[in-house]
Amino acid sequence: MSKSSKTQKPDTRLVHAGRDPARYHGFVNTPIYRGSTVLYPTLACLEADAQDFSYGRLGTPTVQALQSMLAELEGGHTTLLTPSGLSAISVALLAFVAAGDHILVSDSVYRPTRRFCDNVLKRLGVSTTYYDPLIGGKIATLMTDKTRVVFTESPGSQTSEVQDIPAIAEAAHARDAVVITDNTWATPLYFKPFEHGADVAVQAATKYIVGHADAMLGAITTRQATSKAVAARHDELGLCPGPEDVYLGLRGLRSLSVRLERHHKSGLAMAEWLAARPEVERVLHPALPGDPGHALWARDFTGASGLFSIVLRPCSHEGVAAMLDGLELFGMGYSWGGYESLILPFNPSSYRSATNWQAKGPGLRLHIGLEDVEDLKADLDAGFARLRSA
Ligand SMILES: *Cc1c(COP(=O)(O)O)cnc(C)c1O
Repeated sequence: MSKSSKTQKPDTRLVHAGRDPARYHGFVNTPIYRGSTVLYPTLACLEADAQDFSYGRLGTPTVQALQSMLAELEGGHTTLLTPSGLSAISVALLAFVAAGDHILVSDSVYRPTRRFCDNVLKRLGVSTTYYDPLIGGKIATLMTDKTRVVFTESPGSQTSEVQDIPAIAEAAHARDAVVITDNTWATPLYFKPFEHGADVAVQAATKYIVGHADAMLGAITTRQATSKAVAARHDELGLCPGPEDVYLGLRGLRSLSVRLERHHKSGLAMAEWLAARPEVERVLHPALPGDPGHALWARDFTGASGLFSIVLRPCSHEGVAAMLDGLELFGMGYSWGGYESLILPFNPSSYRSATNWQAKGPGLRLHIGLEDVEDLKADLDAGFARLRSA
């Protein structure tokens, strides 16, 4: 990093960090490096391990460019890349637990995170207690001498509860537990995990960082105090993303700020429009002033992404099918964070354990992409007409 880079704003860093054209014959972008073997010029160099790169699995200039950018934007010490968001989560958890330990995990966590805890960690002798995402500082009452990790995700998957991460971190740190936060929704631009007490931040870079629905990628960012444990586990588990995917992450990241600005604006416009629809019971979007998580969101976040949920008034399954099947712009499928709008039904009532999902009508999760909002409204308006007449 040059001297002036320390004072540059995030938008400038997104364009200039992780690049060194002079090193690459003037080409603007850091190239894709493919490789396993890295040659050493001399035995002395090999024995001293005295070069920047040693083996393909442990990084290339392309990997390092993205890692250094993410560490800087997230406000952490080090970032390591993994082949998916879920592998970033599993490596981060495995870095801090051993048989006999206990962890606390938000009830609103991304469901595959929960499956990792319930299946893999359980088999390794690590027990999980799920907590109400609205618990705040009262999480202290769930901490035991064996509690090593508190895993947060805010807003929560599907149901968008905003967590009081500073209060949770204070309680966790009083008992020497590590706070891991899944920061995928906000990205490093809209929530600064380390300023709010987190010790490790994970990103499903598959979502907004890649940003174009064309690659899978994860990232784990640490403070200095947590970097060694994560680096050891990351190395031991041998997880490394492919070079093309890393490049797509770098390429996506360059435009993250302008894309997110639009996702925020359009997402909020769609949320407001949906809140006024007679078919909609409730909109779960923390940037809406009436949302239960709004005050915490306004305190801790600097923006909202394009992902939120709605609960419909009670209606038939056929009605929902008629609505969704005929949509022209909203696609139906997993993942989110690309340039395109998506919609997906959800119902967490069967697997949440610390909270009770009580909606009477069906839930729909929406990702508002970069299309014109008037076209998106027209698509949903026609969908609501199909729902009513089904
Ligand atoms: C999608 C997602 C993940 C997992 O990312 P993958 O790249 O699909 O493995 C993790 N956390 C959250 C909040 C997600 O939405």
